[in-house]
Formats: sequence, C-alpha cells, structure tokens
Amino acid sequence: MVPYVLLLERDADVEHTMAQLTELGLWGRVLTSAARTSVVVRSDSAALDPAVLRALDGVADVLVPQSPHPLLDAHPEILRVRGLSVGDAGRPVVFAGPCSAEDEAQVFRLAAAAKAAGADFLRGGADKVRTSPYAFRGLGQQALAWLRAAADEHDLGLCTEVVDAAQAAACGAVCDVLQVGARSMHHGPLLDAVGAQKRPVLLKRGFSATVEEWLLAGERLLYAGATGVIFCERGVRGFDPQTRNVLDVGAIALLSHVHRLPVVVDPSHAAGRRDLIGPLLRAGVAAGASGVLVEIHDQPGRARSDGAQALLPSALKDLLVGVSKS
Ligand code: PEP
Ligand code: MN
Repeated sequence: MVPYVLLLERDADVEHTMAQLTELGLWGRVLTSAARTSVVVRSDSAALDPAVLRALDGVADVLVPQSPHPLLDAHPEILRVRGLSVGDAGRPVVFAGPCSAEDEAQVFRLAAAAKAAGADFLRGGADKVRTSPYAFRGLGQQALAWLRAAADEHDLGLCTEVVDAAQAAACGAVCDVLQVGARSMHHGPLLDAVGAQKRPVLLKRGFSATVEEWLLAGERLLYAGATGVIFCERGVRGFDPQTRNVLDVGAIALLSHVHRLPVVVDPSHAAGRRDLIGPLLRAGVAAGASGVLVEIHDQPGRARSDGAQALLPSALKDLLVGVSKS
C-alpha cells in the first residue's frame, strides 16, 4: 500500500484536518518541519480518492508517493548520533561489546576494551531474545544500569536491544541507539513502542526477511517517531551450517548505494565463528556499510551467549586498523 502525503496550508488548523480524516475512517501522522506541516495518511482501504483528500479543509496539496516508504525516502543519508556521522565516507562507526552483559565487572572490562580497540558505541544485551528457552536470557534492568555506567566511564555511546514493548521506555531513557533484533523485526507493536522513544534505531534484518520487509519495518519505526534508522545486515538463513548465516552484501549495496540509507554490517552473527569475522567485515564495508557491529569477549570460552563468534578485544583492534569505507 502506498500512503498519501497531505501538504497542509500554512495557517491550517491541524486538529480540524485530522478530525476530518478520522471521519473518513483514515489515520495519519503529522510531520512538522521548518518548511511546512504535512500528514502521512494511512488507510486500511485501498480505494482512496486523492480528490477527497484534496477537498479537506487545510489541505494545500496531496502527493501520491511512488514508494510504500515515503518517510524512509526522505531519510537523511547521513545520521548524526552523539556527534558521530553514520553514513558518511569517513571511518566506519564501530559498535562493539559482549553479546550479553553477564556481570558488572565483565561489562566494565569489556567497555574499557571496546574503547581501547576503537569503538564508538558499547553494544551489549541486557535482555536477550534467544531461540531456546534454556539459553541465557540476560539480566535485565540491573545489566542496563551497568551498561550505561560503563559506557559513560569510557565516553562511549550505548546501544542495546529492546526485546519487549514493556521495556522500551526504560531502554529509551538510557540508550543513545535502540536495537531491534532479527527475531523482532516483524513484531509491529514492538516497532511502535521502540519508535515512540524518539531515538535512532539500529534495525537488524530478520533472517528470512526480504529487503522490502526490512524497509517497511524501518518505515514503521519512523512513523512511530524514531529519529532515524540504521539498517544492520546480520546475515540471512542459508542451507549450509558451516556459517551461521549468509551475509547478504548485495542488500548492503542496495540500501547504501541505491536507497542511500545508513547501513551497518554485523559479521559476528553472519559468520557465527570468529575466524571469518575479519573478511566478512571488510566485505560489508566494501559493499557500502558505514558502520560495523562486532561482538567481543575477553574469555570467549566462558561467554554465556555467542562465545564462538566473540573476538578478543585485541583482535578487534587489529581488525579495525586500516578498514575504511569505499
Ligand atoms: C545480538 O545482537 O546479540 C543478536 C541476538 O542478534 P540477532 O538479533 O541479529 O540474531
Ligand atoms: Mn549475539
């Protein structure tokens, strides 16, 4: 479904226009920029007559976008977060940290190690979704507090995953970037709750999601209020268990070079094994990723999740030397 965009007259009574939309059984989101106010109209009925919309009080013009994701089409190619640019031609922005926050000392050790290796953001899980009910699910709120304190101690931004709509506000209050995980990309109400925090969101691609589905999940985040979306390619499901997933460099190139959106590559979850992280990271950056997400651990053999793919911090540092964008 392609939404309509109403450009409002400068002196429009926005509430009145919205009330008229409601009477027609339509919903809209008001977007206010310095230049003008507009409304993106959502309808559950495909048969929408633009002439009816044009006749509403306060409407100056009606645009019929050519794409189903007009908010993403207007998304800046370069997103500024904490003074850093995600999407420009400089060195890649680095998100690094443990898959899971396991205890307070581990979080502080790995924040220091991430900083020393060249990270910009501490990325670690307070809550984990996990596939098996017997796998470690994270330590929740207390881990979130450790992550924020450790990030602050080392002047790092913080990125953590929101696994549940009920946790979105608590994460939104302390994180610079909110992560939506691969298993949650299709979870509309979670996207709404995360978007409502009015933060930038790192949106992982579902492991069987088409690019179109991924883009529409990003559109939903923006519609819900997110201040930007960073698309994170973490590999899609393949048939060969020798790698955990198949890194889709074509999708990175498509989003970065055709859609002109900020993209981060996550070689850790794509490879599932530490010996392939370097080559996949470089491939992702060569394809157009302007950031990288890498899991590290100082005792990978004892990690409570994703130890097989965790790099030692010293290995991350070596890896990042000389990696630059194409
Ligand atoms: C993670 O980031 O630790 C994670 C679980 O990743 P994904 O959602 O990509 O599987
Ligand atoms: Mn992980």
